[in-house]
Amino acid sequence: MSLALNIDHSSAVRPAPTMRPSLIGLSKAGLAETLVNHDVVSEKEGRMRASQLWNWLYVNGVTDFERMTNVAKPVRQKLSDTFNLDRPEIVSEQVSVDGTRKWLFRFRDPANPHLPAVEVETVYIPESDRGTLCVSSQVGCTLTCSFCHTGTQKLVRNLTAGEILGQILMARERLGDFPGGSRPDDGGLVPGGETRAITNIVMMGMGEPLYNYENVKQALLIASAGDGMSISKRRITLSTSGVVPYIEPTGREIDVMLAISLHAVRDDLRDVLVPINKKWSLKELLEACKTYPGLSNARRITFEYVMLDGINDSDAEARELVRLLAGIPAKINLIPFNPWPGSNYGTSPSSRIERFADIVNKAGYASPVRTPRGRDIFAACGQLKSESERLSRKDRDALLTL
Ligand code: SAH
Ligand code: SF4
Repeated sequence: MSLALNIDHSSAVRPAPTMRPSLIGLSKAGLAETLVNHDVVSEKEGRMRASQLWNWLYVNGVTDFERMTNVAKPVRQKLSDTFNLDRPEIVSEQVSVDGTRKWLFRFRDPANPHLPAVEVETVYIPESDRGTLCVSSQVGCTLTCSFCHTGTQKLVRNLTAGEILGQILMARERLGDFPGGSRPDDGGLVPGGETRAITNIVMMGMGEPLYNYENVKQALLIASAGDGMSISKRRITLSTSGVVPYIEPTGREIDVMLAISLHAVRDDLRDVLVPINKKWSLKELLEACKTYPGLSNARRITFEYVMLDGINDSDAEARELVRLLAGIPAKINLIPFNPWPGSNYGTSPSSRIERFADIVNKAGYASPVRTPRGRDIFAACGQLKSESERLSRKDRDALLTL
């Protein structure tokens, strides 16, 4: 019996998406340019209207042009004839016994509405002092980390910046985070003392964010803009399996906190667990970490380490981990392995995890053990997956000619 609560969302399902392009995901300058290029406003008015729209979209969370009361009526009409502000459709929303909430969101490609819609999962984790949204960057993943459920789903496609933001906007709407919004009635969602349900964002959902760099960058720059959603960059963490060439640009151009999925301290084992290691070895990865822009004791890199029973959890490996990270301002996050149907690994016993954490702590590293959240609804780290499949070229071409 599942203890999870399933909510029927038929009433929240939005109307069928249109072919009008979306305005979500454009930078403010891009927004101005788009309005002018589509003859919605004159060149002179572009910047002013873009600022108004930006405020409606990202501060007020409006999805209907008619509600933009400071925009002249004829402009509102042109806007709604030309563009859409659709958010993803909610296919399902599940709430775990521990309050973790998981959505399955469906997106249609506005540029190719004949193609099947794709689905991704997004997870909200309320804690006493924060509320974290775990966001997906891709449908599936090109990588095949052997302990990760998403890794068994081939990459279907990258999400656009608008779709990455769409997950945040929809979650904020559902959690009552926009002005005038109301909290869901099942409670347990508002962390103590915080006025917002979502205080932190982690790019730790489905996919490898650094294999979709431009879209992730654009989405995070919009989410963190001070005159918009205003989520502090210190509260945004991007997790990568180790796409080395994009680590430096992430710090320089996006300037968010970095997490590295390390999981092993030797190349031969990391080659198996995190196969991207065959392309960029531990040495190259750690070198990129040492020079991560903005790194300091106040801004440490988080090293994620999944605890796999008998595979990577020995005392010797804990000591080697400490040796490897010497000189890098670091936190170590130990993640008990979360099983999924068909997985071949076991979770290290808690006594083993404690011993491992102890060695790392004694060496001076903060090493919190990540409490598994939402396991009953398959919402924990590495358990996310959707049914979306990649079409063959033949099927895709056939649909596109419809
Ligand atoms: N692709 C990115 C981000 C998504 S995964 C990355 O790999 O970093 C978020 C974290 O969950 C990663 O550290 C990942 O290695 C870890 N993870 C994957 N499967 C897991 C599992 N079954 N149990 C625990 N952690 C897992
Ligand atoms: Fe992809 Fe990250 Fe899973 Fe590896 S751990 S398969 S990179 S989502």
